[in-house]
Amino acid sequence: MTYRGRFAPSPTGPLHFGSLVSALASWLDARAHRGAWLVRIEDIDGPRTVPGAAESILSTLERFGMIPDEPPVWQSRRMPRYQQALEQLKSTGLIYPCGCTRKEIADSLLHVRARNTTLAYPGTCRAGLHGKPARAWRLRVPDGDAAVIAFLDRWQGPQTQNLATEVGDFVLRRADDQWAYQLAVVIDDADDDITHIVRGADLMDSTARQIYLQHCLGAPTPHYCHVPVVTNERGEKLSKQNGATALDGDHPLDALNAAARHLGLDLTTIGSTPAETLEGFYAAAAAAWASRMGISE
Ligand SMILES: [Zn+2]
Repeated sequence: MTYRGRFAPSPTGPLHFGSLVSALASWLDARAHRGAWLVRIEDIDGPRTVPGAAESILSTLERFGMIPDEPPVWQSRRMPRYQQALEQLKSTGLIYPCGCTRKEIADSLLHVRARNTTLAYPGTCRAGLHGKPARAWRLRVPDGDAAVIAFLDRWQGPQTQNLATEVGDFVLRRADDQWAYQLAVVIDDADDDITHIVRGADLMDSTARQIYLQHCLGAPTPHYCHVPVVTNERGEKLSKQNGATALDGDHPLDALNAAARHLGLDLTTIGSTPAETLEGFYAAAAAAWASRMGISE
């Protein structure tokens, strides 16, 4: 196996401490496996993309010493591939147009409350649009035992999700004419031959959907590792929206050591003094990661 990992930030603002933790974890995993590390800019959500943010993220990664092994990939340049995948799924009858508005879905869910307090799309348009205009395209999820997707997360352990009761038929092409994250990420990981996905645990809930979509498209399933996200005092995931500040590019070692501590990496057992160079830090941190994750050379 040729290891290929990736860091996939959304360009909604500069790199902050929360995204640094994800970047570092994916970088260390690639380094511990002596594999390739790629960066993908997830800029398909046009309205959320901030001009200049992608360039700022890439230059901060570079100042922190995380240089991708291949030129960065931009999702916005891959729209024709997503369309092609949608056509493939149309031809197999696995997707169908949905004419429901947000309000109609909410209203119908007042009567159908799925288990685990999550609300699943009740499949209203499975049997046809009944005169309503098509707004979105949804992927039909299996019923019965086939709806249960199980995977072993390298950090969080065994996971299962029932797509029928916890998610429902999910959107691949949104009503606002944007590609859904689930479709784009699955196509990108397949096209880039990604073997290992290391990302924040906030994306754990999307993983079963992505695995099912891989099955539908005939794409391989990578190994998954969901690391703890950084939260603020209120327990919310740190993001640009709730006040995360940009990283200080002049002192990368301070932020990197804090990110390593967040990942539970004890660097003191490797070197007797804190690393004074980026290279020294990464050597110690990759060794600690390999030990934590049971990766042998
Ligand atoms: Zn519908």
